[in-house]
Amino acid sequence: MLHFVTSTRWTAASMAALLFLTVLSMTMDCRAQSVKAETPMAADPQIAAALQQVSAQRIQANIEKLVSFGTRLTLSAQDPASIAAGHGIGAAREWIKSEFERYSKDCGGCLEVKSDSFIEEPADRIPKATEITNVYAVLKSTDAENAKRIVLVTGHYDSRNSDTFDVNGDAPGANDDGSGTAVSLECARVLSKLKFPGTIVFLTVAGEEQGLNGSHHFAKMAKDQGWIVEAALNNDIVGGDKSAEQDHSVVRVFSEGVPTAATEQDLRRIRGLGGESDSGSRQVARYVAEVGRSYDVGVKPMLVFRLDRYLRGGDHYSFNEQGFSAVRFTEFREDFNHQHQNVRTENGIEYGDTPKFVDFDYVAHVARLNAATLASLAAAPAPPANVHVLAKDLENDSTLTWEVSPGGRATDYEVVWRATTSPEWEHAQRVGNVSRVTMKLSKDNVIFAVRALDAAGHRSLPIVPVPAR
Ligand SMILES: [Zn+2]
Repeated sequence: MLHFVTSTRWTAASMAALLFLTVLSMTMDCRAQSVKAETPMAADPQIAAALQQVSAQRIQANIEKLVSFGTRLTLSAQDPASIAAGHGIGAAREWIKSEFERYSKDCGGCLEVKSDSFIEEPADRIPKATEITNVYAVLKSTDAENAKRIVLVTGHYDSRNSDTFDVNGDAPGANDDGSGTAVSLECARVLSKLKFPGTIVFLTVAGEEQGLNGSHHFAKMAKDQGWIVEAALNNDIVGGDKSAEQDHSVVRVFSEGVPTAATEQDLRRIRGLGGESDSGSRQVARYVAEVGRSYDVGVKPMLVFRLDRYLRGGDHYSFNEQGFSAVRFTEFREDFNHQHQNVRTENGIEYGDTPKFVDFDYVAHVARLNAATLASLAAAPAPPANVHVLAKDLENDSTLTWEVSPGGRATDYEVVWRATTSPEWEHAQRVGNVSRVTMKLSKDNVIFAVRALDAAGHRSLPIVPVPAR
């Protein structure tokens, strides 16, 4: 077995030697003085150039267009006459569809524009059976082997005012969630000019305000159809409300800790091994943080290790329920006078979710962070499969094994690790194109994960091993 002492910096010779290695197994000395700190992923120039195309002016125009439909309450009008008159959720839906179709025309038909319509039966906030339609565009993959891998961005295009049942009154929903809808649209526009081995879905859902109905239906469909959704990014209230206490340099990224979809067996393992901060969603959140350090997007992700804001919910939860990894982006500080409120002025205070309170540059920064994350994941190889840490014998070294990343794009693997008390990955070690490595570090003291890399350095999501006896 090869024994290998790592230096803090790879020399060209050691890199070449590593690339030349075809051994299936290695031993890595990772004692304190020789560890390699986690470095940001290298920015991909094509992705960086696409981010430059994100336009605050377009985002503003799209949010103002969404507001122009008067209300987008899920229960509001969707008959042909109202659609023709440009009023109600039906008109909003048709306009979103036409925007996606326009982007597709500009890229030679690279987007497949689709609707997911269903009838929601009466429920708490749905007085009578109501047709709900999600609208989405699929950026087709260029690699049949990787086409099944999906990354997704979503926002909800429905809105509400003070009364969840008011089908006629204005419900501008500029921030909640015209902003998230505009992020999905703008990501589709700029990323449709690039090609990726993975598939990207740009989604806009309805029914959020009535009970997450649209996202629930969509995530269940994805699960039933066997989609491999590696990450779902939900943008809801990313308008950067212009209140005095707002921090426009930060966007919150919420992620569940213990997975909603964990089985009893999963929960036993999580409790036993200290896996409470290692859900797939948490790995997506950490990936977003890495992307934020690698690309100049104009806003810093602030990870919040919690499913959502305190006692509140959103569409990412629908994906979590189906066992998919999903996170929520929300501005740093919400102004509750400007969401779920009838537009009015009372005692000199302006209420209502109108465009005047939205910071369009901020929405553009959040769109760039989303686009960079989607593109990085869609460009990356699939994560390694069946990652295990051997636990048959008691030993102070840690041996990790995995199956090669499916899809044939990985040329290298990296082991990452962190102290059990640390929020983000602290160290990374390239181990070559192998499927087994022994780390001179105790699995008692750190949390490990393995990720796949392609020749250009695109990184997959890391996979935390499960014990193998
Ligand atoms: Zn919302």
